[in-house]
Amino acid sequence: MPELEIRQIPVLRDNYVYLARDPETGACAAVDPAVAPPVLVMLDRLGWQLSHILCTHHHYDHVGGNLELKRATGCTIVGHRADAHRIPGIDVMVSEGDEIALGSQVARVLDVSGHTRGHIAYWFPGSHAAFVGDTLFALGCGRLFEGTPAEMWRSLCKLRELPADTRIYCGHEYTESNAAFALAVDPDNAELVARAERVRALRRAGQPTVPSLLGEERATNPFLRADDAALQRSIGHPGTDPVAAFADLRQRKDSF
Ligand code: ZN
Ligand code: FE
Repeated sequence: MPELEIRQIPVLRDNYVYLARDPETGACAAVDPAVAPPVLVMLDRLGWQLSHILCTHHHYDHVGGNLELKRATGCTIVGHRADAHRIPGIDVMVSEGDEIALGSQVARVLDVSGHTRGHIAYWFPGSHAAFVGDTLFALGCGRLFEGTPAEMWRSLCKLRELPADTRIYCGHEYTESNAAFALAVDPDNAELVARAERVRALRRAGQPTVPSLLGEERATNPFLRADDAALQRSIGHPGTDPVAAFADLRQRKDSF
């Protein structure tokens, strides 16, 4: 089966909107359209027709373009059932374990709350792609606005279990500053040091660092390594409960 065609559109300061199209049927989704005009321009340029909006969470920099895009294209808006009251224009309500068809492609809905309550990810196993919003970033994770460290750790563990070759499409280009923090807490991680070098080179060349591969996140993202013995030693908490180590990492990052 052919894989999704995916394009990324940088908008606002550092957000990414994604267009994902099923080549078999032409069904096409915008993931987290913060604003509408650049999405409409890109659709026009590609000759793609928008059929869906997939919302990961309710923040304005992810849903700000919903209503304008719906007016312009008549697309169907998908979001978490628990957030129906704050996802503008929502038509289809989903929760953990649901499947959403995008033409012949199928997304599994994963509840990955923590950044907000009712935060979901859309995993397309047939295309080795996951749209994760502000839960997992390249070398980082989202701030805990509405959830607890335990919830976020559970959500990150859920994403960590996806196949290593899954491309992670996240909501923001935060990778360079995330790399600085990762190096501060995990300086002896050779893979991380090499990756940080690649990230700097990409950004210097004006290139995106997203998507990344889940396999490299597992090896280098400190927030996926809160239960790793070497990282725990490095932050001075050997043998700590992973949730406590994660909470400590998240708190340090908030004031880094
Ligand atoms: Zn957010
Ligand atoms: Fe965001």
